[in-house]
Amino acid sequence: MLIDTHSHLFVEEFIEDLPQVMERARKAGVSYIFMPNIDSTTIDAMLSVCRDYPGFCYPMIGLHPTSVNESYEQELAVVHKYLSTSNEFVAIGEIGLDLYWDKTFLKEQILAFEKQIEWALEYDLPIVIHSREAFEYIYKVMEPYKKTPLTGIFHSFTGTSEEAAKLLEFEGFMLGINGVVTFKKSTLPETLTTVPLERIVLETDSPYLAPVPNRGKRNESANVKEHTYEGGGDLSDNSRARSRGHFC
Ligand SMILES: [Zn+2]
Repeated sequence: MLIDTHSHLFVEEFIEDLPQVMERARKAGVSYIFMPNIDSTTIDAMLSVCRDYPGFCYPMIGLHPTSVNESYEQELAVVHKYLSTSNEFVAIGEIGLDLYWDKTFLKEQILAFEKQIEWALEYDLPIVIHSREAFEYIYKVMEPYKKTPLTGIFHSFTGTSEEAAKLLEFEGFMLGINGVVTFKKSTLPETLTTVPLERIVLETDSPYLAPVPNRGKRNESANVKEHTYEGGGDLSDNSRARSRGHFC
């Protein structure tokens, strides 16, 4: 059984052929697809896809750090409204910090991240964390929650073994691994030999980060198979990673 723990199949890239995308995912052995929200503009589309594929696709609710700007408080109010009136969300996500695209709203990004962590504890939901060029800040925000029941996924982990070890200090957390692990210059296969199997989950981050040999093309959930031994990928020259087979 495979689970795609992070897939944005509700974005416009899939409007034309979503049924075929879903069919290919099922054929590839995918049993569940978890969908992280982006902001208030994506909720309707995400919920409609999840309602069309009950028992297969599950939505999350949250405000993505790249959508944090001067009106982040209104955005957070929308997230809170859904959280407090619906129980269909399986996690709060994706949330976190992104300093790659823009540092203008760093303060607001941190405030939005902290607020959503608090809601995760209040509503007893896991969180899905997006971190780009923000490792130190993420760690700093998360540190006070080490001794809390907070659980979740550090999505799209691509860091070093030292960084992996620091993130694994958070006992209820997993590392989300995607197509980056198949990229030729990726050091991830090496890094992952230091991570216990039970702390790894797979994701595609569709439509982004398609694995080799489809790198650069639109990604889809069926490709989660490409991150496994059966799927091949560049894991073949790494015996430890290879022996892990399907890690879902
Ligand atoms: Zn994502």
